[in-house]
Amino acid sequence: MDNPLENQIQELKRKGVKATVARRAVLEVLLEGPSHQSADDIATKVSSRYPEIHLSTVYRTLETLEGIGAIDHVHLGHGRAVYHLGDEPHQHLVCDRCGSVTEVPNEIFSPLNETLSKRYGFHLRRNHFAVLGRCSSCENSTSQTSVRTYG
Ligand SMILES: [Zn+2]
Ligand SMILES: [Zn+2]
Ligand SMILES: [Zn+2]
Repeated sequence: MDNPLENQIQELKRKGVKATVARRAVLEVLLEGPSHQSADDIATKVSSRYPEIHLSTVYRTLETLEGIGAIDHVHLGHGRAVYHLGDEPHQHLVCDRCGSVTEVPNEIFSPLNETLSKRYGFHLRRNHFAVLGRCSSCENSTSQTSVRTYG
């Protein structure tokens, strides 16, 4: 028996946090996917499913869950923050042309992290911002002339 929601709930209990209806609902929405959703998307889904949960409760719940590491948020591109589950730490590569997001393991950035820490005593919060660049298919399609603009 492997129920992802129940696993998440067990994890909350292990951390000494009560599994309130709102907390369950937020985890449920993130588990159902998409795996990365904005606070507004999550709040809308939760309150349409559980009308008794106030929107402000959802936002507070996001903060609580983030505080214990159950979820995390990342800014993809220009400041757009999305939430994702915190159980599998990963870094995000965002294509600034097509907007595709590739998830890669944190370890890839470990050498950079070590260098920054050794030379500057600086500790990178790796997950907070995505790494922007060009995905392989955009990089390869040099014939394509359309350039993505931000509105
Ligand atoms: Zn993510
Ligand atoms: Zn691309
Ligand atoms: Zn942030």
